[in-house]
Amino acid sequence: MRNLVEDALKGAGADYAEIRIEERETTRIAFRGRTLEEIGMSVTLGGNVRALVRGGWGFVSFDGIGELKERVRLAVSQARLATTGNGRASQLSPVEPVIDSVKAQLVKDPRHIPLSTKKRLLEEYNEIILNSGPRIQTSTILYVETFTKKYFANTEGTYIDQEASDIGANITAIARDGDNVQQCFLPAGGTTGFQTVEGLHERVRDIARRAIEMLDADPVKAGEYTVVINPGLAGVFVHEAFGHLSESDFVYENERLQEIMTMGARFGPDILNIVDGAAVEGHRGSYRYDDEGVPSRMTHLIRNGILVGRLHSRETAAKMGERPTGNARAINYRHRPIVRMTNTFIENGTTSFEDMISDIKEGVYAIEAYGGETAMEMFTFSAGEAFMIRNGKIAERVRDVVLTGNLFDTLKNIECIGNDFEWHDGGAGGCGKGAQFPLPVGDGGPHVRIRKVVIGGR
Ligand SMILES: [Zn+2]
Repeated sequence: MRNLVEDALKGAGADYAEIRIEERETTRIAFRGRTLEEIGMSVTLGGNVRALVRGGWGFVSFDGIGELKERVRLAVSQARLATTGNGRASQLSPVEPVIDSVKAQLVKDPRHIPLSTKKRLLEEYNEIILNSGPRIQTSTILYVETFTKKYFANTEGTYIDQEASDIGANITAIARDGDNVQQCFLPAGGTTGFQTVEGLHERVRDIARRAIEMLDADPVKAGEYTVVINPGLAGVFVHEAFGHLSESDFVYENERLQEIMTMGARFGPDILNIVDGAAVEGHRGSYRYDDEGVPSRMTHLIRNGILVGRLHSRETAAKMGERPTGNARAINYRHRPIVRMTNTFIENGTTSFEDMISDIKEGVYAIEAYGGETAMEMFTFSAGEAFMIRNGKIAERVRDVVLTGNLFDTLKNIECIGNDFEWHDGGAGGCGKGAQFPLPVGDGGPHVRIRKVVIGGR
């Protein structure tokens, strides 16, 4: 493969050109109730060429790997058409060329496990939910497993081949009592092999039990509360509400966002630290090199409450006079790499959960997020589960908890950061941006206490 792609790039006649070839095996299994909705495996092989000429990009993607030289020629001529005027230089932040080969680190290689075994395991989980009593209405299970091998070469002398395994399972129990429908969700999986979805029986039993319990909860009384969010919700919050604003292609194109995202501005209390990076091993957003061949690293976005960094591709780094961060990613070979998050998290703090809730007279404990919406600095998240906090203790269960607010006010209103950091990166699905969804990402955090959060009913 190396000779093939390196030969194709020779004499490309561009300021810069790269080839990315991708081989991917995908297994998908889906149940709705006892109905097996989908089961199958597929293999894809294809690639793309990206070329840069005087600031203009050309991009050509293709199935198979034939006629590479011709694809390079096509991408370069496309780039020439896209050039942004004579004498305009291509802007691409310099990186050291590397030659490397990265193997997936697997405990139990999912490719060696028969499809029938995978199906049987999911059926066991499914039966646990469906046999949890008359108030269980149904279940859904989605299992998505991919094994990807990427080959990357560019005209600067970089050649990288890199493997990645990703397994995600979404297991949902749905309970019903008349019009009242409640669900509880278990995300599972990981990048280190099939063992990450084994042995979940007790946890599956637990989501069925909780979905039923939620039927009996009263809707929360709308109002402003001190809220404690669990690590899962903290992770989703930091990704959705803050992380996307750190993606430099957004920032570069948006003047208002440039004003807001001024380096050195205070965003939160001293105890707040937010990081993104693929260089931490074993999470869904982990890798050694991004889709431009740039080595991954960890980037502090907020340090001691101050905005100190943002996420870059080589092009956005050059345009903004900053360093590339290894955040250029594409969901597959049909797409060009754009600036994306990897593993985004709030760093561990020092407060124990007991101390965090001990002086709350009346507050809300919100657990996990069922999706959310963000529009610039405004956000809305539905909590997966919630309890009232009364006189320093976790009290009764409540439902229909929707958190809304302004990101910047909310970050400033953070009062405590827990000492119980957890990764939250199981599950199928991932991050969406433009036409590129789902991209595997990880997120995480400890418990976080925030004052003055507006909670509305649904
Ligand atoms: Zn996202």
